[in-house]
Amino acid sequence: MKTGNRDNFSSNIISILKQRAAFICSNPDCKCLTIAPSKTDPEKVEFNGVASHICSAAPGGPRYNSEMTPEERSGIKNGIFLCSNCSVLIDKNNGIDYSESTLINWKLNHENWVASNLNKKLLDNKSTTINVVSHNQIGGITAGVVNVGEPQRKLTPRLKAETDKMFPDNNENISVSYVSGNTEALNFATEIKDYLISKGFTIKGLGSFQRSPEVFGLAIENSRHENGRCILVGYPKK
Ligand SMILES: [Zn+2]
Repeated sequence: MKTGNRDNFSSNIISILKQRAAFICSNPDCKCLTIAPSKTDPEKVEFNGVASHICSAAPGGPRYNSEMTPEERSGIKNGIFLCSNCSVLIDKNNGIDYSESTLINWKLNHENWVASNLNKKLLDNKSTTINVVSHNQIGGITAGVVNVGEPQRKLTPRLKAETDKMFPDNNENISVSYVSGNTEALNFATEIKDYLISKGFTIKGLGSFQRSPEVFGLAIENSRHENGRCILVGYPKK
């Protein structure tokens, strides 16, 4: 849809973008809800979401790509749903801090997150409960037979290599959690967290969990309220 020199989205594309994002900002550090019922008018909503262009709608704008056709520029693939704050943020300094690939990642991760939450109870951010979507044991990471008084598990070079393979992209949001109350697991989780940070990952601290059945060794699962995966450090393997 051409408006002046802008290749704008059609109202249909805007509508689909916001629904696919569940009206939640796609910025992984924001994720705010953009819609609410009006407090006074029962027939109105308060809405502050924006269907933003990934590559600018007009020449000279943030991430403008002259190779794109007008159809591509106004197509759904070039759109990302954000709250009004984040839609302004990504264009600051003509978008230098928010590359096309970053925004595409946000969008894909966010839509996956929405899809994985369909028909599930949404949790508040403080909760440490993690929904098990996939639950794959890492083979090598539970090295050794562990008895009471067994030495602290360590991230050996082999386990580091395995971790590198498992987590190739340091833009992924990874969280690390240890079995609640277990100092050995806490120490091991701390070592894993520090290793990932040294690899350029952003890890916001450690969570703890309690599970039934209990988790032994290390497990990886999709995180419930973050994009990306969670590493669970369970009890030393029986
Ligand atoms: Zn936002």
